[in-house]
Amino acid sequence: MSAASVKGWCPGAIRPMPSGDGLVVRVRPFGGRLDAAQAAGLADLAERHGNGLIDVTSRANLQIRGVSDTSHRLLLDGLAQLTLLDPDVGTESRRNILVTPFWRDGDETQALAAELEEALADSMLELPMKFGFAIDDGKSRVLAGNSADVRIERDAAGGLLVRAEGARLGRSVARGEAVATALAVARWFVASGVKNRRGRMATHLASGAKLPEALRGETEPAPIMAAARPGLYPQGAMVGVAFGQLSHATLHQLSGCGHALRMTPWRMVLSEGKRTMPSAPGLITEPYDPALRVIACSGAPRCREAHADTRALAAALAHNIGAAAQLHVSGCVKGCAHSGTAAITLVATAQGFDLVRSGSTRDEPVLRGLDRDDIISDPSVLMGGN
Ligand code: SF4
Repeated sequence: MSAASVKGWCPGAIRPMPSGDGLVVRVRPFGGRLDAAQAAGLADLAERHGNGLIDVTSRANLQIRGVSDTSHRLLLDGLAQLTLLDPDVGTESRRNILVTPFWRDGDETQALAAELEEALADSMLELPMKFGFAIDDGKSRVLAGNSADVRIERDAAGGLLVRAEGARLGRSVARGEAVATALAVARWFVASGVKNRRGRMATHLASGAKLPEALRGETEPAPIMAAARPGLYPQGAMVGVAFGQLSHATLHQLSGCGHALRMTPWRMVLSEGKRTMPSAPGLITEPYDPALRVIACSGAPRCREAHADTRALAAALAHNIGAAAQLHVSGCVKGCAHSGTAAITLVATAQGFDLVRSGSTRDEPVLRGLDRDDIISDPSVLMGGN
């Protein structure tokens, strides 16, 4: 059985995912960071062995698209040379870690990430496919809105804590205990009867599971920071990635001048140490650019499953979406670009677009078979003006 045909797993580099435009090869940067040589090398690999397009995912990973079975082997060799390849599928799958991009030289974030990566590699834990960790150890939390099952955070006084998702309070830990405690929480999750490959911590706790006394905490985590936006930060320049997809040429430009890239789960990338906003096709540099409010999958003609050109429609509608709302345009019901809910979701079908309000591609549409040109000429239908 080919790797690509295995079901019930999360795609990675070693075991890619088939898509309409070929294999999708997911690369998980260690510590959530690519040095400049790795970023430039990835751009080269995407051009040589893929179709030149690179997704920036909601797990802060990159995906090289349009890879064939033949070029996959060559791509893996290239990733190994860039030290971006895990030794095996199990290690790669467990290394599902979000890292705050706002760490500073000399703080503990990168060391915690490296320790957790190593501990997970050694653990042989069989975790559910989406089970993940977050290292969100700044003065305020920036990853609270992003999916994770075990979090390493700080309290208001700066002490470290480990918190299971779904628990309001975390367990205070010394620096040397943080990774071991995070792993102990994951072990407890596995041992407490979660056999389901889709199991998640918050659901487990909500269903009545109780953390053991040794892992339960009474410490309030630090406050949550307002959502990050494109702009200049002490750590560098944060840019948005239109539709979560870069061309190899834009990734090359971003990695130019020797700047490392810190990945985020917000379809934004931080160019480390950069003091001016980068400019390249497909980058969003304005903090309130309407393009930040729209999500669209590859769509036609890039994906064979697609019933419509999703990105053209999303771009045409972006200016009509309220500042606090989000529009998701999906080429089919699979919802590859966004599995969660959005204020407005348009799903392309063979009969036109289905409209879902405050839901996902899998929810019941309020209207079916809408015509693309009608939506563009009267976007009030999206907001309930029908
Ligand atoms: S959601 Fe979009 S990218 Fe995913 S299979 Fe459907 S059309 Fe293709």
